[in-house]
Amino acid sequence: MNPNKRVYDNILQTIGNTPLVKLNKIVADLPCTVYAKVETFNPGNSIKDRMALKMLEVAEKEGKIKPGGTIIEGTSGNTGMGLALAAIIKGYRCIFTTTDKQSKEKVDILKAVGAEVIVCPTNVEPEDPRSYYSVSKRLAKEIPNSWYVNQYDNLANRQAHYEQTGPEIWDQTEGKVTHLVVAAGTGGTIVGTGKYLKEQNPNVQVWAIDTYGSLLKKWFDTGELDMSEVHPYISEGFGEDFLPENYIKDAIDHFEKVTDKDGAVMARRISKEEGIFVGYSAGSVIAGLKQMKDKLKPEDVVVVIFHDHGSRYVGKIYNDEWMLDRGFLEVKTVRDLVGGLG
Ligand code: PMP
Repeated sequence: MNPNKRVYDNILQTIGNTPLVKLNKIVADLPCTVYAKVETFNPGNSIKDRMALKMLEVAEKEGKIKPGGTIIEGTSGNTGMGLALAAIIKGYRCIFTTTDKQSKEKVDILKAVGAEVIVCPTNVEPEDPRSYYSVSKRLAKEIPNSWYVNQYDNLANRQAHYEQTGPEIWDQTEGKVTHLVVAAGTGGTIVGTGKYLKEQNPNVQVWAIDTYGSLLKKWFDTGELDMSEVHPYISEGFGEDFLPENYIKDAIDHFEKVTDKDGAVMARRISKEEGIFVGYSAGSVIAGLKQMKDKLKPEDVVVVIFHDHGSRYVGKIYNDEWMLDRGFLEVKTVRDLVGGLG
Protein backbone atom coordinates (compact mmCIF):
# COMPACT_ATOMS: atom_id res chain seq x y z
CA MET A 1 0.00 0.00 0.00
CA ASN A 2 1.00 3.66 -0.15
CA PRO A 3 2.69 4.87 3.04
CA ASN A 4 2.59 8.48 1.76
CA LYS A 5 -1.19 8.36 1.97
CA ARG A 6 -0.82 6.63 5.31
CA VAL A 7 -2.62 3.50 4.15
CA TYR A 8 -1.08 0.32 5.57
CA ASP A 9 -1.49 -3.45 5.36
CA ASN A 10 -1.48 -3.88 9.14
CA ILE A 11 -0.83 -1.91 12.33
CA LEU A 12 2.84 -2.94 12.57
CA GLN A 13 3.65 -0.86 9.51
CA THR A 14 2.72 2.29 11.44
CA ILE A 15 5.60 1.83 13.91
CA GLY A 16 8.24 4.58 13.81
CA ASN A 17 8.54 7.86 11.91
CA THR A 18 7.27 9.70 14.96
CA PRO A 19 7.12 13.51 15.07
CA LEU A 20 9.77 15.79 16.56
CA VAL A 21 8.00 18.57 18.46
CA LYS A 22 9.61 21.79 19.73
CA LEU A 23 9.13 22.37 23.44
CA ASN A 24 8.25 25.92 24.42
CA LYS A 25 7.04 26.95 27.90
CA ILE A 26 8.49 24.02 29.82
CA VAL A 27 12.05 24.83 28.68
CA ALA A 28 11.74 28.64 28.71
CA ASP A 29 14.46 28.79 31.40
CA LEU A 30 17.00 26.97 29.20
CA PRO A 31 19.25 28.86 26.78
CA CYS A 32 18.95 26.30 23.93
CA THR A 33 16.37 24.83 21.54
CA VAL A 34 14.74 21.60 22.75
CA TYR A 35 12.79 19.14 20.63
CA ALA A 36 10.92 16.09 21.91
CA LYS A 37 10.76 12.88 19.89
CA VAL A 38 7.17 12.03 20.78
CA GLU A 39 7.13 8.24 20.78
CA THR A 40 3.53 8.01 21.97
CA PHE A 41 2.60 8.21 18.28
CA ASN A 42 3.59 4.55 17.92
CA PRO A 43 0.58 2.18 17.82
CA GLY A 44 1.33 0.78 21.29
CA ASN A 45 1.83 4.35 22.58
CA SER A 46 5.53 3.89 23.33
CA ILE A 47 8.97 3.71 21.75
CA LYS A 48 9.19 0.05 22.72
CA ASP A 49 7.08 -0.99 19.69
CA ARG A 50 10.21 -0.45 17.62
CA MET A 51 12.46 -2.86 19.48
CA ALA A 52 9.68 -5.38 20.19
CA LEU A 53 9.07 -5.90 16.47
CA LYS A 54 12.78 -5.90 15.68
CA MET A 55 13.56 -8.52 18.36
CA LEU A 56 10.74 -10.75 17.08
CA GLU A 57 11.84 -10.42 13.45
CA VAL A 58 15.43 -11.34 14.37
CA ALA A 59 14.22 -14.32 16.46
CA GLU A 60 12.11 -15.53 13.53
CA LYS A 61 15.06 -15.19 11.17
CA GLU A 62 17.33 -17.07 13.58
CA GLY A 63 14.71 -19.82 14.02
CA LYS A 64 14.30 -19.11 17.75
CA ILE A 65 10.50 -19.01 17.41
CA LYS A 66 8.32 -20.98 15.01
CA PRO A 67 4.75 -20.28 13.83
CA GLY A 68 2.22 -20.68 16.65
CA GLY A 69 4.92 -20.39 19.33
CA THR A 70 4.83 -18.55 22.67
CA ILE A 71 6.60 -15.26 23.39
CA ILE A 72 7.75 -14.95 27.04
CA GLU A 73 9.15 -11.79 28.62
CA GLY A 74 9.54 -9.94 31.87
CA THR A 75 8.14 -6.51 31.04
CA SER A 76 6.86 -3.44 32.80
CA GLY A 77 4.30 -2.96 30.11
CA ASN A 78 5.63 -0.99 27.16
CA THR A 79 7.74 -3.79 25.67
CA GLY A 80 4.86 -6.15 26.37
CA MET A 81 2.49 -3.91 24.44
CA GLY A 82 4.79 -3.88 21.43
CA LEU A 83 5.28 -7.65 21.59
CA ALA A 84 1.53 -8.24 22.02
CA LEU A 85 0.69 -6.19 18.93
CA ALA A 86 3.33 -8.02 16.89
CA ALA A 87 2.06 -11.36 18.24
CA ILE A 88 -1.51 -10.61 17.18
CA ILE A 89 -0.52 -9.81 13.61
CA LYS A 90 2.01 -12.67 13.36
CA GLY A 91 0.02 -15.31 15.28
CA TYR A 92 1.87 -16.00 18.55
CA ARG A 93 0.79 -16.45 22.17
CA CYS A 94 2.26 -14.00 24.75
CA ILE A 95 2.99 -14.60 28.45
CA PHE A 96 4.47 -11.70 30.42
CA THR A 97 5.78 -11.44 33.95
CA THR A 98 5.81 -8.05 35.63
CA THR A 99 6.21 -6.62 39.14
CA ASP A 100 3.65 -5.43 41.64
CA LYS A 101 5.23 -1.94 41.45
CA GLN A 102 3.88 -1.33 37.95
CA SER A 103 0.66 0.58 37.43
CA LYS A 104 -2.50 -1.52 37.23
CA GLU A 105 -3.38 0.26 33.99
CA LYS A 106 -0.27 -1.20 32.34
CA VAL A 107 -1.25 -4.77 33.29
CA ASP A 108 -4.87 -4.27 32.18
CA ILE A 109 -3.72 -2.82 28.85
CA LEU A 110 -1.58 -5.90 28.18
CA LYS A 111 -4.52 -8.18 28.94
CA ALA A 112 -6.70 -6.07 26.62
CA VAL A 113 -4.42 -6.97 23.71
CA GLY A 114 -4.58 -10.67 24.49
CA ALA A 115 -1.49 -11.23 26.63
CA GLU A 116 -1.41 -13.41 29.76
CA VAL A 117 0.22 -11.47 32.63
CA ILE A 118 1.81 -12.87 35.81
CA VAL A 119 2.45 -10.25 38.54
CA CYS A 120 5.55 -10.98 40.72
CA PRO A 121 6.91 -9.24 43.88
CA THR A 122 9.23 -6.21 43.36
CA ASN A 123 11.31 -6.37 46.51
CA VAL A 124 13.20 -9.61 45.87
CA GLU A 125 16.66 -10.15 44.34
CA PRO A 126 16.71 -10.88 40.57
CA GLU A 127 18.01 -14.42 41.39
CA ASP A 128 15.10 -15.12 43.79
CA PRO A 129 12.79 -17.78 42.23
CA ARG A 130 9.83 -15.41 42.75
CA SER A 131 11.38 -12.50 40.81
CA TYR A 132 9.92 -11.64 37.44
CA TYR A 133 13.24 -12.52 35.78
CA SER A 134 13.28 -16.01 37.35
CA VAL A 135 9.61 -16.74 36.66
CA SER A 136 9.89 -15.77 32.98
CA LYS A 137 13.06 -17.86 32.56
CA ARG A 138 11.37 -20.88 34.20
CA LEU A 139 8.28 -20.59 31.96
CA ALA A 140 10.51 -20.41 28.88
CA LYS A 141 12.13 -23.71 29.93
CA GLU A 142 8.80 -25.43 30.65
CA ILE A 143 6.70 -24.32 27.64
CA PRO A 144 7.58 -26.03 24.33
CA ASN A 145 8.20 -23.81 21.25
CA SER A 146 8.59 -20.75 23.46
CA TRP A 147 11.05 -17.91 23.07
CA TYR A 148 12.37 -15.91 26.01
CA VAL A 149 12.84 -12.40 24.62
CA ASN A 150 15.22 -10.97 27.28
CA GLN A 151 15.11 -7.36 26.15
CA TYR A 152 18.00 -6.53 28.51
CA ASP A 153 20.60 -8.69 26.80
CA ASN A 154 18.96 -9.02 23.38
CA LEU A 155 21.07 -6.82 21.11
CA ALA A 156 18.27 -6.47 18.54
CA ASN A 157 16.90 -3.99 21.12
CA ARG A 158 19.63 -1.40 20.60
CA GLN A 159 19.81 -2.34 16.88
CA ALA A 160 16.21 -1.13 16.39
CA HIS A 161 17.20 2.33 17.63
CA TYR A 162 20.44 2.34 15.64
CA GLU A 163 18.42 1.59 12.48
CA GLN A 164 15.36 3.77 13.17
CA THR A 165 15.38 6.26 16.05
CA GLY A 166 18.88 7.57 15.33
CA PRO A 167 18.44 8.11 11.57
CA GLU A 168 15.02 9.71 12.10
CA ILE A 169 16.44 12.26 14.57
CA TRP A 170 19.40 13.00 12.29
CA ASP A 171 17.06 13.61 9.32
CA GLN A 172 14.47 15.55 11.29
CA THR A 173 17.07 17.96 12.70
CA GLU A 174 18.91 18.07 9.34
CA GLY A 175 22.05 17.05 11.19
CA LYS A 176 21.81 19.96 13.64
CA VAL A 177 21.25 17.89 16.79
CA THR A 178 23.95 18.62 19.40
CA HIS A 179 22.57 16.72 22.43
CA LEU A 180 20.48 13.61 22.98
CA VAL A 181 18.89 13.15 26.42
CA VAL A 182 17.26 9.81 27.22
CA ALA A 183 15.99 7.94 30.29
CA ALA A 184 18.02 4.72 30.44
CA GLY A 185 16.72 1.27 31.38
CA THR A 186 17.74 -1.66 29.20
CA GLY A 187 20.02 0.84 27.45
CA GLY A 188 18.57 0.01 24.03
CA THR A 189 17.24 3.49 23.27
CA ILE A 190 20.22 5.52 24.44
CA VAL A 191 22.93 3.22 23.09
CA GLY A 192 21.35 2.52 19.69
CA THR A 193 20.31 6.12 19.06
CA GLY A 194 23.44 7.63 20.62
CA LYS A 195 25.81 5.37 18.69
CA TYR A 196 24.17 6.29 15.38
CA LEU A 197 24.23 10.02 16.10
CA LYS A 198 27.86 9.95 17.27
CA GLU A 199 28.82 8.15 14.04
CA GLN A 200 27.28 11.05 12.08
CA ASN A 201 28.87 13.69 14.32
CA PRO A 202 31.25 12.64 17.13
CA ASN A 203 30.55 15.94 18.93
CA VAL A 204 26.94 15.00 19.68
CA GLN A 205 26.62 14.76 23.47
CA VAL A 206 24.60 11.79 24.75
CA TRP A 207 23.23 12.21 28.27
CA ALA A 208 21.48 9.40 30.15
CA ILE A 209 18.90 9.94 32.86
CA ASP A 210 18.98 7.55 35.83
CA THR A 211 17.00 7.39 39.06
CA TYR A 212 18.01 7.09 42.74
CA GLY A 213 17.90 3.38 43.60
CA SER A 214 19.52 2.32 40.31
CA LEU A 215 23.18 1.37 39.89
CA LEU A 216 23.61 2.62 36.32
CA LYS A 217 25.18 6.03 37.03
CA LYS A 218 27.65 4.58 39.54
CA TRP A 219 28.62 1.91 36.97
CA PHE A 220 29.15 4.59 34.33
CA ASP A 221 31.22 6.81 36.65
CA THR A 222 33.33 4.10 38.35
CA GLY A 223 32.93 0.83 36.44
CA GLU A 224 31.61 -0.80 39.63
CA LEU A 225 28.32 -2.69 39.93
CA ASP A 226 27.62 -1.42 43.43
CA MET A 227 24.57 -3.14 44.96
CA SER A 228 24.60 -0.64 47.83
CA GLU A 229 23.22 1.88 45.30
CA VAL A 230 20.16 -0.32 44.77
CA HIS A 231 16.91 0.29 46.64
CA PRO A 232 13.22 0.35 45.67
CA TYR A 233 12.16 3.50 43.83
CA ILE A 234 8.94 4.98 42.50
CA SER A 235 10.00 6.20 39.03
CA GLU A 236 8.84 3.78 36.31
CA GLY A 237 10.44 2.38 33.17
CA PHE A 238 14.10 3.28 33.74
CA GLY A 239 17.02 2.64 36.08
CA GLU A 240 18.29 -0.91 36.69
CA ASP A 241 19.63 -3.11 39.51
CA PHE A 242 22.08 -4.87 37.15
CA LEU A 243 23.93 -4.04 33.93
CA PRO A 244 22.08 -5.14 30.76
CA GLU A 245 24.24 -6.28 27.83
CA ASN A 246 22.80 -3.56 25.57
CA TYR A 247 25.10 -0.99 27.22
CA ILE A 248 28.12 0.36 25.33
CA LYS A 249 29.92 2.92 27.50
CA ASP A 250 31.37 4.83 24.55
CA ALA A 251 27.91 5.67 23.21
CA ILE A 252 27.16 7.73 26.35
CA ASP A 253 28.88 10.87 27.73
CA HIS A 254 27.15 11.48 31.04
CA PHE A 255 24.64 9.99 33.51
CA GLU A 256 22.41 12.28 35.59
CA LYS A 257 20.18 11.14 38.47
CA VAL A 258 16.70 12.60 38.99
CA THR A 259 14.54 12.13 42.09
CA ASP A 260 11.18 10.34 41.96
CA LYS A 261 9.48 13.59 42.96
CA ASP A 262 11.15 15.82 40.36
CA GLY A 263 10.28 13.39 37.53
CA ALA A 264 6.65 13.10 38.59
CA VAL A 265 6.15 16.84 39.05
CA MET A 266 7.79 17.61 35.70
CA ALA A 267 5.69 15.02 33.81
CA ARG A 268 2.56 16.80 35.09
CA ARG A 269 3.98 20.14 33.97
CA ILE A 270 4.83 18.86 30.46
CA SER A 271 1.26 17.62 30.00
CA LYS A 272 -0.22 20.94 31.19
CA GLU A 273 2.27 23.34 29.61
CA GLU A 274 2.98 21.65 26.27
CA GLY A 275 -0.21 19.67 25.66
CA ILE A 276 1.83 16.48 25.31
CA PHE A 277 0.42 13.83 27.68
CA VAL A 278 3.55 11.96 28.76
CA GLY A 279 4.67 9.21 31.12
CA TYR A 280 6.99 9.32 34.12
CA SER A 281 10.33 9.04 32.31
CA ALA A 282 9.58 12.04 30.07
CA GLY A 283 9.25 14.13 33.23
CA SER A 284 12.54 12.76 34.55
CA VAL A 285 14.29 13.58 31.27
CA ILE A 286 13.20 17.23 31.34
CA ALA A 287 13.96 17.53 35.07
CA GLY A 288 17.44 16.08 34.40
CA LEU A 289 18.03 18.38 31.44
CA LYS A 290 17.23 21.36 33.66
CA GLN A 291 19.76 20.10 36.24
CA MET A 292 22.38 20.38 33.46
CA LYS A 293 21.35 23.87 32.37
CA ASP A 294 24.86 25.28 32.96
CA LYS A 295 26.33 22.97 30.32
CA LEU A 296 24.02 24.31 27.57
CA LYS A 297 24.56 27.16 25.10
CA PRO A 298 22.12 29.18 22.93
CA GLU A 299 23.16 27.45 19.69
CA ASP A 300 22.56 23.94 21.08
CA VAL A 301 19.80 21.76 19.60
CA VAL A 302 18.75 19.23 22.22
CA VAL A 303 16.58 16.21 21.39
CA VAL A 304 14.86 14.45 24.28
CA ILE A 305 12.92 11.21 23.98
CA PHE A 306 9.39 11.05 25.37
CA HIS A 307 9.11 7.27 25.75
CA ASP A 308 5.47 6.72 26.61
CA HIS A 309 1.95 8.06 27.19
CA GLY A 310 0.42 9.60 30.30
CA SER A 311 -2.69 7.40 30.13
CA ARG A 312 -0.64 4.60 31.70
CA TYR A 313 -0.12 6.71 34.83
CA VAL A 314 -3.61 8.10 35.53
CA GLY A 315 -3.79 6.22 38.84
CA LYS A 316 -0.32 7.45 39.81
CA ILE A 317 1.40 10.70 38.84
CA TYR A 318 -1.82 12.12 37.38
CA ASN A 319 -3.73 11.35 40.59
CA ASP A 320 -3.48 14.20 43.15
CA GLU A 321 -3.96 11.91 46.15
CA TRP A 322 -1.22 9.54 45.01
CA MET A 323 1.09 12.55 44.63
CA LEU A 324 0.10 13.98 48.03
CA ASP A 325 0.62 10.63 49.80
CA ARG A 326 4.22 10.55 48.58
CA GLY A 327 4.91 14.19 49.41
CA PHE A 328 5.27 15.02 45.70
CA LEU A 329 2.56 17.67 45.78
CA GLU A 330 2.44 20.43 48.35
CA VAL A 331 -1.07 21.55 49.13
CA LYS A 332 -1.53 24.13 51.85
CA THR A 333 -5.29 24.27 51.85
CA VAL A 334 -8.22 22.43 50.29
CA ARG A 335 -8.81 25.61 48.32
CA ASP A 336 -5.45 25.15 46.52
CA LEU A 337 -6.40 21.57 45.67
CA VAL A 338 -9.64 22.61 43.95
CA GLY A 339 -7.82 25.30 42.02
CA GLY A 340 -8.83 28.34 44.01
CA LEU A 341 -12.59 27.93 43.59
CA GLY A 342 -14.80 30.06 45.82
N1 PMP B 1 10.96 5.12 29.74
C1 PMP B 1 9.97 4.22 29.65
C2 PMP B 1 8.58 4.67 29.94
C3 PMP B 1 10.24 2.89 29.31
O1 PMP B 1 9.25 1.99 29.22
C4 PMP B 1 11.58 2.51 29.09
C5 PMP B 1 11.90 1.07 28.77
N2 PMP B 1 11.97 0.26 29.93
C6 PMP B 1 12.60 3.47 29.22
C7 PMP B 1 12.24 4.78 29.52
C8 PMP B 1 14.06 3.13 29.02
O2 PMP B 1 14.36 2.74 27.71
P1 PMP B 1 15.44 1.61 27.41
O3 PMP B 1 14.95 0.33 28.03
O4 PMP B 1 15.52 1.54 25.93
O5 PMP B 1 16.73 2.03 28.04
